[in-house]
Amino acid sequence: MTPVSPHTIIIAPIGDFTPELLDLIRAEIKRIYAFPTEVRPLLEDLEFAFNPNRNQYHSTPILEELARKAPADAIKVLALVQEDLFIPILTHVYGEAQLGGTACIVSTIRLNEGHRSLNTQEPYLGRIIKEAIHELGHTFNLRHCREHTCLMHYCRNESDVDRKSDQLCRYCKVLLEDEMKRLEVK
Ligand SMILES: [Zn+2]
Ligand SMILES: [Zn+2]
Repeated sequence: MTPVSPHTIIIAPIGDFTPELLDLIRAEIKRIYAFPTEVRPLLEDLEFAFNPNRNQYHSTPILEELARKAPADAIKVLALVQEDLFIPILTHVYGEAQLGGTACIVSTIRLNEGHRSLNTQEPYLGRIIKEAIHELGHTFNLRHCREHTCLMHYCRNESDVDRKSDQLCRYCKVLLEDEMKRLEVK
């Protein structure tokens, strides 16, 4: 018997997310990355990453924990949270990813104009989906792109996110294809 090769992108919700949102994210992941997806909660809560001085959660240790907990069949893990995330050099982040690694995370709160309870209408859903695909792109070794309409463009605010399309630009598509080939030969 050959060992299970990693082939599934795991979506790990932490907190309540509607099945509609999860289905939309799964469909977009399949469209862009062509890997099967599964929803599996990997973390109970984020308290270990809470910073009381900032009243926010440090995303980097969350990524490390997700990568540690990634099951054998997981090629990537995408966590979804409603908590406000930060890295030390920035006031907040929409998400973070391990470049070329396993884990990434997206927070919905800033994409939802600061509301914790999830707004299930446009443009909020579209923003969450775009940032989820963006963070996963980093795990597939994609870096930030200067093209404003490309999913890999770095967004400073919600209107930047709204201006992005739901596609990778031609350049990022080529880089992604190269990375996919590299993953297959491994
Ligand atoms: Zn980014
Ligand atoms: Zn691009």
